[in-house]
Amino acid sequence: VKLAVYDEDRIGVVEGDCVYDVTEVAPAGLRDLRVHVNWLIGNWASALPKVRQLRAEATAVPLSAVRLLPPSPHPSHIFAAPANYRKHIGELRSRTVSKNTTRENGFFLKAPGSLAGPADGIRLPRGSIRRFDHESELAVIIGKRARNVPRSQALAHVFGYSCLVDLTMRIEPGTHEEERSMRKSFETFTPLGPYLVTADEVGDPQALGNRLWVNGKLRQEANTKDMIVGVAELIELISSVLPLNPGDVVASGTPEGVGPVGPGDRVKISIDRVGEMVLLVTEQPETSPRAY
Ligand code: MN
Repeated sequence: VKLAVYDEDRIGVVEGDCVYDVTEVAPAGLRDLRVHVNWLIGNWASALPKVRQLRAEATAVPLSAVRLLPPSPHPSHIFAAPANYRKHIGELRSRTVSKNTTRENGFFLKAPGSLAGPADGIRLPRGSIRRFDHESELAVIIGKRARNVPRSQALAHVFGYSCLVDLTMRIEPGTHEEERSMRKSFETFTPLGPYLVTADEVGDPQALGNRLWVNGKLRQEANTKDMIVGVAELIELISSVLPLNPGDVVASGTPEGVGPVGPGDRVKISIDRVGEMVLLVTEQPETSPRAY
């Protein structure tokens, strides 16, 4: 099943180029509390018959006619793996503080407030003086609470997958060296979408092509088989520290080929069996009181 969230936090099943509204599957009131998607993900097995019934009764609406939001719009956490493909490590070594791999560094957090959907695009700080890079990543959407889960059982805790671009304000050695969580948490710096695909439709998460283009030019191309720490081990790692919750997002790290984006650019990310998302890069409407 492909699930989208759109317009006023509506939930829809995506088939072809259309979306079918199944919002009413979630108990009334949960949408106001902004936990209805998390509830649906966490109660998927019991909710599925109602999802199918609502899908059958719904009218097809073209995807082009709705405003797509991130498919898990209100996660309690966004976890992220640092440099996590074998070739990317050497590329970063020259300009990042850390010289280590994901296995050595663990994970970091991006603020949930940095999430964006395809309709938002990427909005860079207005009039920026800094460099902002794209990172093309497979996103894992957690399906049930995970605490101290060994990697052998980890994939049973995955609900689905989506495309994620981890936007990053780069460090400039000797001048600005802000903390990573700040540099990666600007509003719209975590585009997720265009929808999520349930794990049963994706299969092995370590056999997926991961590509990103800027203005039609291929910038990143890799396969998730080249991840240093795979999805199952990432869940083992994170759940050894704290509980993951339904709807939580794990950005699984980027391959080589990261590069800058600027206003006017068109970013496209594609992950095999997961989907393709196009993002337009603009600037924030307001000037920040600080220069970035
Ligand atoms: Mn990243």
